[in-house]
Amino acid sequence: MKTKINAPVARGHHAHDVDLEDTFDFLNTDDTENGFRRDRLPTLGDALSWFVERGVIHGEGADRLGHQAEKDVVTAQKDLARIHAVRGALREVADAIIEQRPPRPGALDTVNRALHARQVIELVPSSDGCVAVDHRHVGDPIDDALARLCDPLVSELTGGDPERIKLCDGCSWVFFDTSRTGRRRWCDMATCGNRAKAARHRARSKGATEAAAPAISAGA
Ligand SMILES: [Zn+2]
Repeated sequence: MKTKINAPVARGHHAHDVDLEDTFDFLNTDDTENGFRRDRLPTLGDALSWFVERGVIHGEGADRLGHQAEKDVVTAQKDLARIHAVRGALREVADAIIEQRPPRPGALDTVNRALHARQVIELVPSSDGCVAVDHRHVGDPIDDALARLCDPLVSELTGGDPERIKLCDGCSWVFFDTSRTGRRRWCDMATCGNRAKAARHRARSKGATEAAAPAISAGA
């Protein structure tokens, strides 16, 4: 498909910067709730909607894939499995960075395959005698979305502060510590930080009650 280079729609398609927060949000869609695993992208439709929302896939591309999925359930399942596999591998790489250990075998291969499968953007002459942007479809739109979601982690490793990639003590989400001291333990102080504080407070007051109890019985 061709898009005029200075059309607003082209900016929407190509200029959306995927940042590390998008990458971590993607990882954190494999979530837990009350101690149970809760996948926020359980179907291909959910995953495609999420990709559109983050601007890593064209709306029209997602629609086309959605219609195809209705007709071809097997391919749809494979697409979803590919999305989950890259998400899992990327999470494993993030965990390995956080824990300063080598990632499990296969995780790097999966991420590297995703990085290589992106669409290539080229400049071509446009029909009105100017210049337009064209995609050379090396991978499909899902491959491209996954590659773009992998990119920020690579950039952080090459030129950023990978030591600021952390795991939230409260909810186990991966987050980037933007605090001045770099010693934040929670993805969000307002939610996880406060919950952790409340839990510590409860544990302390429970501990105090239990400590006081034997003294009473000893005294009786
Ligand atoms: Zn958290």
